[in-house]
Amino acid sequence: MQLYKVLAPGPVNLHPEVQKILALPMIHHRTPEFDQILKSALTGLKKIFKTKQDCYILSSTGSGGMEALLVNTLAPGDQVLAIDSGKFGERWAEMAQVYGGEVIHMKIPWGQAVEPQDVENKLKTNPKIKLVLCQACETSSAVRHPIEALGKMIRAFPEVLFLVDGITALGAYPLPMDDWFIDGLVGGSQKAFMLPTGLSLLSFSEKAWKKIEKNPTPRFYFDIRKEKAANLKGETFFSSNVTLIRALDFVLKLIESEGLDKHFARIQTRSDFTLKFGERLGLSSFSKSPSPSLSALCVPAGIDSQELRLRLEKEHFITVMGGQDQAKGKILRIGHMGLITAQEMTELFLRIHETLTQMGAKLPIESNTLKTEMEKFWGQHG
Ligand SMILES: *Cc1c(COP(=O)(O)O)cnc(C)c1O
Repeated sequence: MQLYKVLAPGPVNLHPEVQKILALPMIHHRTPEFDQILKSALTGLKKIFKTKQDCYILSSTGSGGMEALLVNTLAPGDQVLAIDSGKFGERWAEMAQVYGGEVIHMKIPWGQAVEPQDVENKLKTNPKIKLVLCQACETSSAVRHPIEALGKMIRAFPEVLFLVDGITALGAYPLPMDDWFIDGLVGGSQKAFMLPTGLSLLSFSEKAWKKIEKNPTPRFYFDIRKEKAANLKGETFFSSNVTLIRALDFVLKLIESEGLDKHFARIQTRSDFTLKFGERLGLSSFSKSPSPSLSALCVPAGIDSQELRLRLEKEHFITVMGGQDQAKGKILRIGHMGLITAQEMTELFLRIHETLTQMGAKLPIESNTLKTEMEKFWGQHG
């Protein structure tokens, strides 16, 4: 089996201890041992969400968590303001439509962040809007949206709930749910939580719970009222994802023992490194508001980023992502979540240099100079 360096914006490199936990023998979810683990993970999550509310663990991918936020808070016929700045914003808007929402698409050009003032204007002119949907980080463009400003503004509208897809944000940089007045927040296991795909993590505000209780939207698997009742008995609504929850509990404890700030700082450093040495290679940031969790670098004219990423994967076993849709072929997306060493990042940039040169690009820096500068960076930031 080939070993890859997974520097994608999810899935990500796993911690060796997580790999061991994933290989442990099975235990039943109705055992005192597992009860303890579930309790510990649910409590640990509150520290990442920074909330007094309860958190929930669902066996689903991140998109399932996005759907769970919607089906519990969206009533058929509600007007929904969907901030759509890329692939994931588009997906959430489509989901809201499927569940009977009257969706107002707020299209933001790829690479740009939403202006809170524009959202406020929309809310003032459309008093029927009941939900605002936004990605904390839009992974297709590496844009970080101004969630704090949005939350503090939306809070003044008593009928409006603010739902945030934090799948490439929660656990990678600060997203304090209570302080920023987020009403529904979702994270995903294979992104900032450094696990395999399969869990979505969520929480709702008190303001959201008032609507959830009386929301007529039909729901079964993702009915958070049932999950809440089960959690109160120390169980999950359906069979618990024992394997992943055991690993989640480990990751939460790992982050806590290291310190959340330190954990965030390390991810920020990878972003600083990527943007800095991207510039040195002549690859500018596609995002006007770069997220700490991943970077999107524009490749030189005449170079196909899809070919670049395939070569990195086939020849060097390094996984990064290209662009999607309108950014296809134009950008390289590099993830900063998961277990990533300085050597891996240095190697990535040396391989990008080598491969771009082979593909005919004229780069503004020599490979040796690049290497020296990168080593100096890690000397200062290691
Ligand atoms: C990855 C991602 C998702 C989708 O998650 P899945 O686990 O693939 O369902 C949703 N939103 C954002 C911002 C993401 O990065």
